Amino acid sequence: MTDTNLSAVLYKTQDLRLVDRPIPEPGQGEVQICMQKMGICGSDVKFWQKGAIGHFVVTGPMLLGHECSGVISKLGEGVTNLKVGDRVAIEPGIPCRKCEWCKSGRYNICPDVFFLATAPDSGALARYHVHAADFCFKLPDNVSFEEGALVEPLSVGLHACQRAGVSLGSKVLVCGAGPIGLSTMLSAKAMGAAVVCLTDIDEKRLEFAKEMGADVTVKIESKDVLEVVGKVKAALGGMPDQSVECSGAEFSVNLGIQATKPGGAFAVVGHGPDPVAIPITAAIAREIEIRGSFRYMNTWPTAIAMISSGKINIKPMISHRFKLEETLQAFETAKSGAGVKVMISCNKE
Ligand code: NAD
Ligand code: ZN
Repeated sequence: MTDTNLSAVLYKTQDLRLVDRPIPEPGQGEVQICMQKMGICGSDVKFWQKGAIGHFVVTGPMLLGHECSGVISKLGEGVTNLKVGDRVAIEPGIPCRKCEWCKSGRYNICPDVFFLATAPDSGALARYHVHAADFCFKLPDNVSFEEGALVEPLSVGLHACQRAGVSLGSKVLVCGAGPIGLSTMLSAKAMGAAVVCLTDIDEKRLEFAKEMGADVTVKIESKDVLEVVGKVKAALGGMPDQSVECSGAEFSVNLGIQATKPGGAFAVVGHGPDPVAIPITAAIAREIEIRGSFRYMNTWPTAIAMISSGKINIKPMISHRFKLEETLQAFETAKSGAGVKVMISCNKE
């Protein structure tokens, strides 16, 4: 263990620096975590490159990083669910716990959530981080810190499949084969989908999706949505019961509405151009249920159990590994689009 707190601080657009900061002390109900692994998300790269995502704007120095795991190094007052030395995966969003959405369990849509590395809220890419104890989840011995960090993107896919209502025997269309599309595919299969089809414009990503378990893939080469609908139907052996949009492309929003079977559900995860033009008549006349899907709620225990039992294998997603000292190189790699998931080791090995 170290007694300094090397941290990846974003000062402003394109100004990401490694600086030593004080080790934070846990307050009431909090734990101090000796950080182990951190995955880089597309949003981290976007905040670094553009300084904002929609109305989330970098206003001052903030740490990046929200896909993480670590070891409990200190307990704040009143913490009873964890002990020093516990290995944990961190759920990055701490909601207000008081509003009607928190109280009804849908805390992912709490308007007063604090969320790691969603500007202006600071993240956790550092040697040490302090977090609410009840948003840290113990990892079984057979789940690695890397897998613990990947519970975050997996949770996005799990929640999206729950929103879409994927169930035993479902035919599922997933648009976009990035980390979120792959997580959605793995979740859909684990939830009993009979066949999952992934789309992408990038052949390499589709090849990788097949290695990770996609049953069928469709490469998007045409601007003609109905032509692609035909390809999806042929690939799945029928129209999708549920579709999930994970690419952020306007084309995929159209495809999801046009391809999904009448009465089926279409969950939208990807953030793309806003607003988008959608074929509203197709959605109305075929009663497509369009459902927003935002982050996740109560998915950490499920995701950890599925990884531990071997029912979901998320680890092959990691394509690159760096040390905390190599953070800039790690971010350049993530920005380049090479590979799939870039992972940073936060501890001094
Ligand atoms: P990513 O950029 O790694 O993956 C997107 C994939 O979509 C890429 O492989 C890209 O080639 C592909 N793509 C681009 N145009 C396409 C098209 N027309 N048809 C099919 N595929 C196409 O991103 P990611 O990290 O996997 O995240 C996916 C999306 O989900 C992003 O828009 C991200 O902002 C969003 N997201 C939403 C939530 C949420 O809670 N709603 C959470 C995390 C990420
Ligand atoms: Zn709330």
